Amino acid sequence: MSAAFDLVTADRLVTCDPALATAADPLGVLTPGAVLLEGGRVVFAGRVEAARAAVPAGAAITERAAPLVTPGLVDAHTHAAWVGSRHAEYALRMQGADYEAIAKAGGGIASTMRAVRAASRDEIAAELTQRLGRMVRAGVTTVEVKSGYGLDLASEEKLLEAVAQARAAAGTPRVVATYLALHALPPEAGDRGAYAAHVTQNDLPALAAAGLFAFVDAYIDRSAFSTADAAPLFRRARELGLGVRAHVGQFADVGGAELAASVGARSADHLEHLGPSGADALAAAGVRAALLPVASFTLGQAPPPVGLLRSAGVPLVVASDANPGTAPTESLPLALALAVRVYGLTVAEALLGATREAAISLGLTDVGVLVPGASADLVLWDLPHEAALVQPWGVPRARTVIGRGRVLSGSG
Ligand SMILES: [Zn+2]
Repeated sequence: MSAAFDLVTADRLVTCDPALATAADPLGVLTPGAVLLEGGRVVFAGRVEAARAAVPAGAAITERAAPLVTPGLVDAHTHAAWVGSRHAEYALRMQGADYEAIAKAGGGIASTMRAVRAASRDEIAAELTQRLGRMVRAGVTTVEVKSGYGLDLASEEKLLEAVAQARAAAGTPRVVATYLALHALPPEAGDRGAYAAHVTQNDLPALAAAGLFAFVDAYIDRSAFSTADAAPLFRRARELGLGVRAHVGQFADVGGAELAASVGARSADHLEHLGPSGADALAAAGVRAALLPVASFTLGQAPPPVGLLRSAGVPLVVASDANPGTAPTESLPLALALAVRVYGLTVAEALLGATREAAISLGLTDVGVLVPGASADLVLWDLPHEAALVQPWGVPRARTVIGRGRVLSGSG
């Protein structure tokens, strides 16, 4: 976009602005509405005539219109930095093989680890760049990307450098990197406790010094790492000025939510297994619950206790969990569809969970909303209504995707 100003008008402008939200309209929808963009920022959001009036006389202006405009979607939980394919294992699982049993037999995360260790940084960056491009075409303008398939210092560094390389590529979304420090026990390590201590004392400070990530994550579960393994890691991360997010309660409630709350985590993710004390702890500490319906759908699990989270007052996030095993999709809109269909979220809860609340969980306040001062990250949809975002499953319906004022996908 070369013009000084861009005016985007919509029959339905979904602002996600808390100042416009009401009980009947949690998304703050203007019908019609307009946003005015300049220099990569939103300079006005509101009524169409007021937006036109805000353009200085004689200024160059490009106009676009769509039935529906929303903030760019924010995918706050992905494992998008991988290479290889786990299609054979998927077929086995669909025939009844158990995920935890496959992992114990050297499949699952360990099989992707072998592919990542064998790949070069450029190869990983190239696959990630393509994957991020497909996410953009689905309407995503901000993506959290975790490491965690290297499982040793050099391989994790390579993965995180590949994330930085992909982030710098043209046409990719904004990328927030997370060091998934405790994902699985590598085959060369003997003991979870000793491995966790080594990662905490050696790998975390070494990698943090390079400034390659904003968050530290750990997979806390009955067949993964314990709260005792993860607690020192999270505390060290906070001492280093890093944020914390945690995989919690996917297969069993082992106290991960309480730990996430105690270290001031930004999000606790999965939560298929969560009790009242965990929900209360998350609410009291302002930790967002990141729900990952694609993974539980793939694994045939019961949904997390959404009613408990709601009544405790925990803000909800919905993410794709894009990964080669349990969430074989790159589509955040598919995750939204499943959040509504399988988890019983309202469309407004799901959409806020993939815009404003997801952004807050990543420490970002200028994306996920269309308000003056926000980044010019928005999607023009080929859909009549925000409720339609969760209906035409599986096919991208984003007409034009704009990130930081630039057209990332669609007609310019
Ligand atoms: Zn995950």
